[in-house]
Amino acid sequence: MRIAIAWPDAPAPDTNPLLPAAAVAAAAQLTPRLLAQAPESDHEGGFPRQEFDWLRAAGLLTGPLPPGLGGAGLNQPAQLAEQLQVLRHIGAGNLAVGRVYEGHLNALQLIERFGTQGQLRRYAADAQAGHLFGVWNTEAQDGVQLMPLPDGRFRLRGAKTFGSGAGQLTRPLLTGKLPDGGWQMLVLPADEQVPRLDPSFWQPLGMRATASFRVDLTGLEIGSEDLVGQPGDYYRQPWFSGGAVRFAAVQLGGAEAVLDATRRFLQGLGRTDDPYQRQRLGEMALLVESGQLWLAGTAARYPGTDEEEAQAESIVAYANMVRTAIEEIGLRVLQLAERSVGARGLLRPHPLERLHRDLTHYLRQPAPDAALADIGRFALARTEPAAQLWRAI
Ligand SMILES: Cc1cc2nc3c(=O)[nH]c(=O)nc-3n(C[C@H](O)[C@H](O)[C@H](O)COP(=O)(O)OP(=O)(O)OC[C@H]3O[C@@H](n4cnc5c(N)ncnc54)[C@H](O)[C@@H]3O)c2cc1C
Repeated sequence: MRIAIAWPDAPAPDTNPLLPAAAVAAAAQLTPRLLAQAPESDHEGGFPRQEFDWLRAAGLLTGPLPPGLGGAGLNQPAQLAEQLQVLRHIGAGNLAVGRVYEGHLNALQLIERFGTQGQLRRYAADAQAGHLFGVWNTEAQDGVQLMPLPDGRFRLRGAKTFGSGAGQLTRPLLTGKLPDGGWQMLVLPADEQVPRLDPSFWQPLGMRATASFRVDLTGLEIGSEDLVGQPGDYYRQPWFSGGAVRFAAVQLGGAEAVLDATRRFLQGLGRTDDPYQRQRLGEMALLVESGQLWLAGTAARYPGTDEEEAQAESIVAYANMVRTAIEEIGLRVLQLAERSVGARGLLRPHPLERLHRDLTHYLRQPAPDAALADIGRFALARTEPAAQLWRAI
């Protein structure tokens, strides 16, 4: 099945399953192409459509699926290292593509974890056919409600904000409130039940190409077969907060791109012998590599599937450290890059102008203070020596 609405001229998907290492190599190969293409979609209302055709052709849209369903298993705990590297490479090419791809991966992971076997097969077939998934949870006061109908179906009322890929995703996984207050996930067949978009919501500093519009779902109808998991599953730990490592990996890719663009700028001007520039570049290289070590540490400590829930507290605390550390890395790298390239390095069409805007905006993630405080709460509740705090996970 091909999608007529969202991807009329998409190339045929590559249905050969990838090995996890091949997925990392494919993502790394895409980085320079994504970087070169990024200015094309960097405008309000823009979306990196061609880039998603490349990801599809490289097998990366099906990469998150289990191997038995034609994927590389990138969503399996055992493949966390590869998943994070794929996200980092894509983020290094284009943060907007990284943001939308991260949502695609997250939606398939939620379906795999909380959906039925039948739903997993159905949505795996959709991913194979080229549908793009995402997760829309954020909302304002007029959030989404599910109103039961006599025939067992549900009518939706309300809107989501920051709906990345609005008008492009054909299978957004979204959340809404049931009459008893339960927080329910559902997958909207957005090629049939088409939401009303408000692009005027998205006039951002950066990340323009994510098309993160306000999306009004009022009046759309879904069936019970579109509901995923039980009410409350979306916020189950460690997966909800633990998933922060995915956006941190994309952000780190952005910091890496800033480092590379800064180096190219200084090399182009022959400003590589200056001791102050060397010192700054040394610090930037150190910061980016320390981010890599955070990702490697995450993957090395992550337990197998059976232990995830039992170790939820320490997984969440560690993920909070990772996102906090990588946010700091990103902020510091941006500041060092600005000082290194000066005003003329921040002028279009130099890529640093966009990279700076995109990374600055994408570093803004929910509740950063609470994330840091949670690490402190976790550490204060434990009595073992600091060296053993993270050994358990
Ligand atoms: C490019 C982009 C794409 C996005 N795409 C999606 C998407 O597809 N789907 C989706 O669901 N969401 C999406 N989002 C939204 C995202 O998940 C977060 O909701 C958003 O980034 C929150 O950022 P914030 O800085 O407003 O967070 P906030 O949590 O509001 O943080 C801002 C500040 O307020 C503080 N703070 C937080 N809570 C409180 C409180 N109760 N009292 C006092 N201070 C508080 C924080 O510590 C911080 O200092 C996207 C966001 C961006 C930037």
